[in-house]
Amino acid sequence: MIRAVITDIEGTTTSIAFVHDVLFPYAAAQLEPFVRARGGDPVVQATLAELGQASPAGDPVAVARDLMARDVKSTPLKRLQGWIWEAGYADGSLLADVYPDVAPQLRAWRDAGLTLAVYSSGSVHAQKLLFGHTRAGDLRALFTGWFDTTTGPKTEPASYARIATVLDVRPAEALFLSDATRELEAARGAGLQAVGISRGAEVPPGWLTSFAELQLEAAGSPER
Ligand SMILES: [Mg+2]
Repeated sequence: MIRAVITDIEGTTTSIAFVHDVLFPYAAAQLEPFVRARGGDPVVQATLAELGQASPAGDPVAVARDLMARDVKSTPLKRLQGWIWEAGYADGSLLADVYPDVAPQLRAWRDAGLTLAVYSSGSVHAQKLLFGHTRAGDLRALFTGWFDTTTGPKTEPASYARIATVLDVRPAEALFLSDATRELEAARGAGLQAVGISRGAEVPPGWLTSFAELQLEAAGSPER
């Protein structure tokens, strides 16, 4: 019996194109205007100083640009991108894509008493921004767990074991959904159930193309 569903974002609930062709270019384009507008804020200043340390000229914008161009995962960069996206979602410049089957199915699972969680390599801050501003509305209340790579790499079974523990379910009672084979294998390695979701033309055997195709056994009742 499944008591918890844990979902990946990029390529699973949300198109890879939204992340790569909308979110990342938006952060790159808004970098300079953001630093001009908010660079005096002490919290932003501290992050810019952290980035600037990596450059002989001490230019945080140049460092951020270079890290973005090389797709380097850097904590201060992620923080900076998170603030830029926050401003973009807040003023309506950004609206997150979720596939049309996602919100109705998540609601149905939630109503059936399942615990829902997100596990994505994007920061928890970015995850909440995304699900807080989707074309289907604010979906944050559907999730009780938010996990990013501070829990561990997505390709290591131990990360999934930790998530099951936090969600207070046995690994076999948790189902992980992703478009990445290595992540599915890692989840299975920890004893979780895992189903591949393909949003592209190629659908590997046993994978599904929509959350709506997933028939879950009667879920645990909310009172358990
Ligand atoms: Mg993915």
